[in-house]
Amino acid sequence: MQKQEVILDIKDLTVEYGRGRKKFKAIDGVSFSIYRGEIFGLVGESGSGKTTIGKAILRIVKTSGGSIVFKGKKINGKIDRKLDRELKRKIQMVFQDPMASLNERAKIDYIVSEGLYNIRNFIDENHRRKKVEKILLDVGLLPEHANYFPHEFSGGMRQRIGIARALIMEPEFLILDEPTSALDLSTRFQIINLLKELKEKRNLTYLFITHDLSLLRSLAHRVAVMYKGKIVELAHTEKLFKNPIHPYTKSLIFAIPIPDPMEERNKLQYMYDPLSYAYENKPPKLIEVEEGHFVLK
Ligand code: ADP
Ligand code: MG
Repeated sequence: MQKQEVILDIKDLTVEYGRGRKKFKAIDGVSFSIYRGEIFGLVGESGSGKTTIGKAILRIVKTSGGSIVFKGKKINGKIDRKLDRELKRKIQMVFQDPMASLNERAKIDYIVSEGLYNIRNFIDENHRRKKVEKILLDVGLLPEHANYFPHEFSGGMRQRIGIARALIMEPEFLILDEPTSALDLSTRFQIINLLKELKEKRNLTYLFITHDLSLLRSLAHRVAVMYKGKIVELAHTEKLFKNPIHPYTKSLIFAIPIPDPMEERNKLQYMYDPLSYAYENKPPKLIEVEEGHFVLK
């Protein structure tokens, strides 16, 4: 088997927020790597630190320990301008609610071009406009949508604009932060399919962040489960669903509704109680329990 290329390697990452007595570790010693071409799922409840990891990779929050290595180069902490410029193009993030980040008074043409303007990644106006029209088509919109305003679009179409905005930079690595959480079910399905298709066509790698483990089942190659700033379990998706070991992972799997209402009503309840789980190590360590399957113990 061909050795897989690690595109992103995170080791012992720590991110702290607040100062003085309010200081706390939002990310507490997280390690994982992502292979090129992979969809890596990061799941956990709200507040567990998922977005913070995305922002640390994007360099919009400071890290206080550990390393983030992208294509062999350390990218957290001080870096030179050349690398900074390269990263601004190669790593992009798509947020849950594109409206929150889209300027309501700007036309789609400007919104989609913003990253291009920032790094001047076009020859002239004509070239830029061509890029915008092409990317709108690629995400299932129309070239003339460039002249519209954000409020003229539905939720699904707005998320397509969010994706276009990221892809126009021709990135290699995309952080998708709850990209479908604000959408209804059928729109969610369309956006997931679009993302799968774009990944294949453009040789992308995804870090897919969600609080919804069921979404990752048919999407992610591997999944890391986060709880309060730590990864408690990491495995290939099938293994995680078949053989969850950490009680928090089990609670997430039990919480997924079973389609059959009778079975759903009769299924066992399982709530995670952090106090009921005694770790073997002090401090707890991620231990490989079977090939590629890590559990915090
Ligand atoms: P998630 O994306 O999993 O919901 P976040 O990464 O947004 O989690 O947040 C992790 C923790 O850090 C939460 O307790 C959150 O309240 C806190 N937090 C996030 N951003 C900030 C910030 N800018 N300043 C202080 N605390 C923050
Ligand atoms: Mg978040």
